[in-house]
Amino acid sequence: MTHLLNADLHCHSVISDGTLTPEELAARAKANGVELWSLTDHDELAGQARALAAAHAQGMRYLSGVEISVTFIGQTVHIVGLGFDADNAALLQGLRDTRGGRRQRAMEMSEGLAKVGIHGAFEGALPYVGNPELISRTHFARFLVDSGVCKDTNEVFRKYLTEGKPGYVAHRWATLGDAVRWIVDAGGLAVVAHPARYRFTPNEEFALFTEFKGHGGRGVEVVTGSHSVAEYAIYAQTAKEFGLAASRGSDFHSPAESHTELGTLPLLKRTLTPVWELLASRIQ
Ligand code: AMP
Ligand code: MN
Ligand code: MN
Ligand code: MN
Repeated sequence: MTHLLNADLHCHSVISDGTLTPEELAARAKANGVELWSLTDHDELAGQARALAAAHAQGMRYLSGVEISVTFIGQTVHIVGLGFDADNAALLQGLRDTRGGRRQRAMEMSEGLAKVGIHGAFEGALPYVGNPELISRTHFARFLVDSGVCKDTNEVFRKYLTEGKPGYVAHRWATLGDAVRWIVDAGGLAVVAHPARYRFTPNEEFALFTEFKGHGGRGVEVVTGSHSVAEYAIYAQTAKEFGLAASRGSDFHSPAESHTELGTLPLLKRTLTPVWELLASRIQ
């Protein structure tokens, strides 16, 4: 009956592009009835020890977590890792390399914005950044909202920060194979995050899942804040077709921005194998 577990295995703290601390997230998750929790900051494990301690302080079980930025056939794909050893040297080094280009990218984003009359965006975004190695588009978005350029972060992404827009800078992230291997070799389980968000053709999506499995990936997010109810059904079907376990996570970033609260999404359907069944020995 473990599909009835309230597991939330995707969210972000100030250590990447969220606005709450690991401790605040843990309290919020607990208040919403979460029983098994994971903090999955982008490309960074610096919050893991605090998240584990905070989960235990709240009486929740915990899986280590991360969301790795990957470039696959020219698009950015996110791979969530769960239940790995958070001290694994190769994983830590791989994530350090993945974070490496973010500062330079941010300066180039700022130059692009300056060309359309938005000056000082790099300096403006910095006060929003909790981790100097993790300057993200989200921090630019918060600055552009608070300075009155846009009414919300969605508008910022639509007008300025997505492909073809003035503040967008193409970036080469980790490869799919490397990201999956870092996670698997550290004892964890790799999960394709929010697959409905990508703009792949059916053939490209088939290639993504086929290669992901070939590299040792074993899970897919079915119930996530990024999916509609219809997309839960589509990716439940994908999980069955590819023999993947299913994950559930809000992708919560901020009380002010996130439309999905921690721990409040529908539970996984009983016909799916939850990722936490494969990770029983890794739960802390
Ligand atoms: P980055 O890793 O710097 O490319 O930033 C990616 C982050 O931007 C994602 O993890 C989301 O938190 C956020 N994001 C991406 N697209 C959107 C969007 N359309 N609206 C709001 N936030 C977005
Ligand atoms: Mn994010
Ligand atoms: Mn993501
Ligand atoms: Mn995320």
